[in-house]
Amino acid sequence: MKKTNVTQPFLPPLEEFIPYLEKIWESKWLTNAGPFHEQLERELCKYFGVDHISLFTNGTIALVTALQALRITGEVITTPYSFVATSHALLWNGIKPVFVDIDPLTLNLDPNNIEAAITPQTTAIMPVHCYGHPCDVERIQKIADTYGLKVIYDAAHAFGVHDGHGSIVRHGDLSVLSFHATKVFTTFEGGAIVCPDAKTKVRIDRLKNFGHVGEVTVVAPGINGKMSEFNAALGLLQLKYIGQALAQRKQIDAVYRKLLKGLKGIHCLNDVGEKVANYAYFPILVNANYPISRDELYQRLKDNGVHPRRYFYPLISDFPMYRGLPSALRENLPVATDAAQKILCLPIYPSLKKSVVDEIARFIVAQ
Ligand SMILES: *Cc1c(COP(=O)(O)O)cnc(C)c1O
Repeated sequence: MKKTNVTQPFLPPLEEFIPYLEKIWESKWLTNAGPFHEQLERELCKYFGVDHISLFTNGTIALVTALQALRITGEVITTPYSFVATSHALLWNGIKPVFVDIDPLTLNLDPNNIEAAITPQTTAIMPVHCYGHPCDVERIQKIADTYGLKVIYDAAHAFGVHDGHGSIVRHGDLSVLSFHATKVFTTFEGGAIVCPDAKTKVRIDRLKNFGHVGEVTVVAPGINGKMSEFNAALGLLQLKYIGQALAQRKQIDAVYRKLLKGLKGIHCLNDVGEKVANYAYFPILVNANYPISRDELYQRLKDNGVHPRRYFYPLISDFPMYRGLPSALRENLPVATDAAQKILCLPIYPSLKKSVVDEIARFIVAQ
């Protein structure tokens, strides 16, 4: 089969990027809230239908800063079924992650398990919209309100995801996005925090700029989380093509679903409907009644030039810096442990040819 990775960035025509570079060269304004940075913040606000966004150098620093901005301490309830940056952001703030199990259908943090994990030290919940599938935002908010907790969404997968009323990123006290090269919308490296009000945005903007206010005043031990003009320009160009990119992803999703439908032992996740989905990933569960194991299928695909990924295996709670935590015990996380053993994310990206998707799906059917 044709060599295929799980994802490939969507790059607009290079000649369309040149005028942006010319402007940067002309103005010599390379970073620190330059004109492209400000424009991208405005355009993303419009795209998401929100009032305030703060751009970042990457999603991880944005997560770390989001926790700082809300002065989160003690314990935070989170999912073990995510990219490791979710929990690392807690450790970088000296916060103890408390893992709770996930929902077997969505693989998102299961609201049914949250209350039992709350202690006097709990200050926040940090769920992930895994694969861009929306969390049960209403139930999570209700629990947070009852116990006086903050909610910070890791929305790294959720660019372009909607619920009935708008972008999913408007939920929670803060929502954090990643614009890494592997994500649906990319600035090569980049990220953002969706802020609920102007005051919070000011605080976040200061924290991402060393805590500086003006030339000679520093009000907080901030970090350097600023997005450069180069990355912001990439974002502005990319934003022109996002509709097209999502439409192409949708077509690939449909081909997989059609060809894998009813296949014994294979379960396609996240058929959330076109009003909701961003088709960021194509996750399947390889169940015990499939002729070969998940890892055998993974290897056979790789041997044939296709590189799917086991997102998310291993679980975050199985990494050495987490596995000593009481909540990291596998008995505490049966659904996540099971999903990590069965999951396989198949290649999906805008330029992936339908004929290749066809071939990958038929290969899986033929095992
Ligand atoms: C990609 C990702 C991040 C980290 O974002 P970066 O921009 O790579 O730092 C965090 N959480 C999740 C769930 C991710 O997929």
